[in-house]
Amino acid sequence: MSDRPTAIVTGASRGIGKAISLELASLGYDIVINYFDFKDDKSDDGAAIETQNEIKAIGVECEILRGDVSSPDDRRRLVDFTKENFGRCDMLINNAGVAPSKRIDILEATEDSYDRVMNINLKAPYFLTQLVANWMIEQKKGNPKRNYRICNTSSLSAYTSSPARGEYCLSKAGIGMMTKLYADRLAEYEIGVFEIRPGIIMTDMTSAVKDKYDKLIAEGLTLTKRWGRPEDVAKAVGAIAEGRLDFSTGQVINVDGGFHLRRL
Ligand code: NAP
Repeated sequence: MSDRPTAIVTGASRGIGKAISLELASLGYDIVINYFDFKDDKSDDGAAIETQNEIKAIGVECEILRGDVSSPDDRRRLVDFTKENFGRCDMLINNAGVAPSKRIDILEATEDSYDRVMNINLKAPYFLTQLVANWMIEQKKGNPKRNYRICNTSSLSAYTSSPARGEYCLSKAGIGMMTKLYADRLAEYEIGVFEIRPGIIMTDMTSAVKDKYDKLIAEGLTLTKRWGRPEDVAKAVGAIAEGRLDFSTGQVINVDGGFHLRRL
């Protein structure tokens, strides 16, 4: 059992999840990194190991576990692994997510792509939260003074229509309701649940559409005329981890340079 709080961060080998892990480590959290680098029938732990080394250099413990969040067995393994290695989980960050492999108009889009995106982006965090929330309730009984918190990464796509990636928009809109449901259900245990809604953030996920977004941002799509950085999102999660939003359970935190503002 560690004296430090522990956070599970899904999809933490790179991008936003990596930045969140580094932020939480700098706040004194031990970290469990989940990732799923599995392509062409092989896995590659390179990025996860690099992130683990960066976190350990901060002075906290960090373990990595490869697993597909959309697999019930892998989700259970992630929770069991955290129990065995740290004996506690104070924070869950549901961050792993994918864009559709191909952007296809909803008049043509396939059920396979729908199932893949919905399983990873919505079903997985919904049921991982169920597992971790039950464990948090148990932990809270033995440690009533500890703070337990859950953060879900949605997107501006929760409310912005992109008909060429409808399944992604649906999955992120679902995260909005999932956050409300768990915030409601877990309030009696004082477990805070939050939705982080990133805007356009520079990561591998957006590299394919870089030119398009460069132009839109230059033309004023966002109030703050720059790409978001993974660290921008991580700082918002850091504020939650520090307890600065403990009276704001269920809150949506836009990290989008003002994209969400309607203007005349
Ligand atoms: P990214 O750079 O593509 O990284 C995605 C992460 O998720 C990687 O660590 C990846 O691990 C992991 N992952 C993917 N599928 C997984 C699975 N089935 N099981 C476990 N891990 C899996 O993406 P990102 O831009 O950082 O996005 C992170 C989150 O923010 C996502 O939920 C995304 O929808 C959301 N978001 C991103 C933006 C943006 O502009 N970038 C905007 C709004 C919301 P491996 O590499 O090991 O496979």
